[in-house]
Amino acid sequence: MPIPLVDYHVHTARCGHASGAMERYVERAIQSGLTELGFSDHLFMYWLPSDRRDPELGMAEWEHDFYVEDVERCRRQYAADITIRLATEADFIPGYERELERILRGYEWDYVIGSVHFLGEWGFDDGRHVAEFARRDIDALYAEYFEVVGASAESGLFDTIGHSDLIKKFGHRPTLDQCAAYQRLAERFARAGVCVEVNSAGLRKPVGEIYPHPDLLRACHAAGVPVTFGSDAHAPAEVAADISAACELMRVAGYTEYVRYDQRHRQIVPIETKTTPSS
Ligand SMILES: [Zn+2]
Ligand SMILES: [Zn+2]
Repeated sequence: MPIPLVDYHVHTARCGHASGAMERYVERAIQSGLTELGFSDHLFMYWLPSDRRDPELGMAEWEHDFYVEDVERCRRQYAADITIRLATEADFIPGYERELERILRGYEWDYVIGSVHFLGEWGFDDGRHVAEFARRDIDALYAEYFEVVGASAESGLFDTIGHSDLIKKFGHRPTLDQCAAYQRLAERFARAGVCVEVNSAGLRKPVGEIYPHPDLLRACHAAGVPVTFGSDAHAPAEVAADISAACELMRVAGYTEYVRYDQRHRQIVPIETKTTPSS
């Protein structure tokens, strides 16, 4: 089956909740037949004072330059075998856009993934705080979440929006039909000029589904939003995980092309045939 030969959402042990040497991630990508691997570790928690930054959620600010150096070292080391992209997964926190812009300006990213992991103070995708869902109206929560995701796209800070229905991670389902919400979000993505990410990590979570929902991805395709692929690997064995299932979802949604990035310039490429399969 044709697949995108890239994985654009990969973490490193520096974030505090991933494991394995960066070399193992790269080697796994090469074994999987990928031609590009993008490291996109969590940016440090820039919106909090340093004594309130959780070391299990992101690297320390002082580590960040070492992360960038490590990616560049891997890039040189494996140059003959695979293209390595320098990226970051940055939290979108309303009100902190200018601070994030200032930080992002200091590095030569190939692309920046914008993600919403927090609604107010609540890290809703953090298993330690899952009890909060029971105190919320799930329909209202979905609406609030999609509103912030739409605003993240419109911030102009990001190339790609990560896991754009992460709110479903633990299996909390809305009772209201989401078609209109999906369409509105897809149109906001299209107007803002961002890509949507097909992220296979949801298959490894309680929800058991790729992000985003097929209907949201279909709405994105209809609105003309380009697509990227990411495994959201937090261990070397997760690189390129479920890439075939992700590709099938893209195909069903109507996509025949995906996006590659080089220093924040986009290239639209056809989904290719895997030529060097291995275990
Ligand atoms: Zn994320
Ligand atoms: Zn991630």
